[in-house]
Amino acid sequence: MELWFNEFQTDNLSLGARVKETLYMGKSEFQDIAVLDTFEFGRMLALDGVFQTSIFDEFIYHEMIAHVPLLVHPAPRQVLIIGGGDGGAAREVLRHAAVERLEMVEIDGAVVDVCRRYLPEISTVLITGHDKFHLKIGDGINHMAQAENKYDVIIVDCSDPIGPGEGLFARRFYEDCFKALKADGLFVQQTESPFYHQPLLKRLYKDIGAIFPITRTYLAQIPLYPGGTHCFTIGSKRYDPLAVDTAKLPDLATRYWNKEIQKSSFALPNFVKELFK
Ligand code: SAM
Repeated sequence: MELWFNEFQTDNLSLGARVKETLYMGKSEFQDIAVLDTFEFGRMLALDGVFQTSIFDEFIYHEMIAHVPLLVHPAPRQVLIIGGGDGGAAREVLRHAAVERLEMVEIDGAVVDVCRRYLPEISTVLITGHDKFHLKIGDGINHMAQAENKYDVIIVDCSDPIGPGEGLFARRFYEDCFKALKADGLFVQQTESPFYHQPLLKRLYKDIGAIFPITRTYLAQIPLYPGGTHCFTIGSKRYDPLAVDTAKLPDLATRYWNKEIQKSSFALPNFVKELFK
């Protein structure tokens, strides 16, 4: 019998993946967790029925959420990841020699354990550890409320704005990010689909823009996520992502990110620009 796993991307649209094998299905204190081996995407992690990452295309999301903001900041020494339980963003951040300390605050220890076991290509840092890497299992919202003038770059690698991730899209959280950053710090957040999450995108761009002097959204093509185009939004106190001199950037052995994309990913189609007016 053929087995399919459907993610309902909107009330009226789903993405289905034909499953070779169900590797894990469980319930943590916070969410339903599934790992499926699928024909098209390879092994995939789903939380509360929503696809989070896959072996096939994880490099795109993780390179873009890590390298773009880290290369906007001239000296990203103290870095924080909120969420990121699969370890992919941490793996990419630790490729930057300038990073002295990387903290990660993930609410669900069960996600970390499951990813260690079933997605070792992504969770390398969670498996081997790293002298710069410090993992805390806890709520990123509380962590941020307590931090002050501490980080150069904050990466909000969160799930959708439902369940434990809901407060990570609130204006109060962005105010706490501002407070937790040093005087020239910046933060980035995955900000969903420009096709299917327009009211959310519009609202958070406005909220971040009311707090940070510089707000910029950039795009990446990610087949796993709704509509295949995904947004990331930066709030920055001093450095403008559009002013980066890409000629001076290092060459990284990446599969998606490159110097041209560091710049071109900020070129927005008119319908997205319209949302931010
Ligand atoms: N790449 C993914 C995406 O865009 O769908 C995100 C993946 S990562 C697995 C998201 C993580 O955020 C999950 O492991 C989830 O447990 C975590 N998370 C959700 N709410 C959180 C919170 N309040 N504090 C810390 N981590 C949180």
